[in-house]
Amino acid sequence: MKKLQIPFIQGDGVGQEITQVTLNLVQEVVHKYYSDQVEIEWIELLAGEKAFRETGEYLPEKTLATLKNHPVAIKGPLTTPVGEGFRSLNVQLRQELDLYTCYRPVRYFCGVPSPVKFPEQVDLHIFRENTEDIYAGIEFMQRTEDNEKMKKFLLQELKITGILFPETSSLGVKPISEEGSKRLVRAAIQFALDKKLPSVTLVHKGNIMKFTEGAFCKWGYEVAKEEYSDQTIALSAITGPGDAKGKVIIQDCIADAFLQNLLLKPYQYSVIATTNLNGDYISDMAAAMVGGIGMAPGANINYQTRMALFEATHGTAPDIAGQGKANPGSLILSAAMMLDYLNLPLAAEALRDALEKVISHRKVTSDLHAFIPYGELLTTQKFGEEIAYYL
Ligand code: NAD
Repeated sequence: MKKLQIPFIQGDGVGQEITQVTLNLVQEVVHKYYSDQVEIEWIELLAGEKAFRETGEYLPEKTLATLKNHPVAIKGPLTTPVGEGFRSLNVQLRQELDLYTCYRPVRYFCGVPSPVKFPEQVDLHIFRENTEDIYAGIEFMQRTEDNEKMKKFLLQELKITGILFPETSSLGVKPISEEGSKRLVRAAIQFALDKKLPSVTLVHKGNIMKFTEGAFCKWGYEVAKEEYSDQTIALSAITGPGDAKGKVIIQDCIADAFLQNLLLKPYQYSVIATTNLNGDYISDMAAAMVGGIGMAPGANINYQTRMALFEATHGTAPDIAGQGKANPGSLILSAAMMLDYLNLPLAAEALRDALEKVISHRKVTSDLHAFIPYGELLTTQKFGEEIAYYL
């Protein structure tokens, strides 16, 4: 019998409710399908408000150290404390653990209410760069000493003329590196090849930010050409019907046009590789097309070390916390991804199927209930019990 130690962070707000439901389901489904092979041992790690209450720190060193020693972990949402000087704990975790890919699959589950006409046409695999871009946190508030130094350098040394109101401007830096871009695009192309998916679309805003977003796109094409020349083809290189046979098509799209296209022709897209901020917007819009962030799973992955942190993609939802209203779907589907990653595919599929069955029987939590005629409103806990019934 193999013992799998999996660290978990409960999370703040609705985290308490959804994490417990999810861990119970994972325990049950693994026991059902792999009882003679695998046993899960959960290790609770402190982060967020619970950690602050118990240790005086939001992200204790022990939590980071334990995560670094375990290849797979799962977490609920964490509050970003309001006030100057606080960095998002999620961003901190991604950067400290160098989890450079935020992977979000977005597909339709039968029965889920959607604002678009054909949600079943949405089947995306979003690879969002997770460690660079404006998330690097390099910002200088207006009228501070650092801001003045930065401004002096820009205006006097670099002779920059584009700052319209220098007296009152705050400033930010957007680092996008060749290594960071290439490792992300490499992961996306490899994924498309492994899963036999038709295309990888590089989404960027390179028409305006030529040396950051534009460079991301350029480096993306370079990875395809230099490392996967036999297995990929650029869309622009296709001249006839047979050219792309057996190959992954590499194409690119400007971010604003992409958002429009995604609403109008979602079937055109499969794997998406994009920068950090674009990926943030795209993930939430795509999730909304198939039922909202309460149902969107996600994972932060380093494909080189294989470390993966699975998470609920939504926040702590303080407006509904503690009321049994939260949809645990996002974390449950992330847990199913985790089971796939741990090579326990029967358990993963059973979990997804059970969730889909409960929703298709119109038994849902409050976020979906408002959109389902004659639906049955369930609490977070009861929703979990219904899923357990169908495992
Ligand atoms: P949020 O995602 O918490 O809430 C946005 C809206 O979605 C709210 O109306 C909420 O009720 C609803 N919602 C979210 N999750 C839901 C669920 N599971 N079921 C039903 N409805 C759900 O975003 P916010 O209000 O902007 O952020 C609240 C806190 O969460 C902030 O401190 C923010 O920093 C943090 N946050 C954390 C993460 C993370 O841990 N990955 C992500 C986003 C925001």
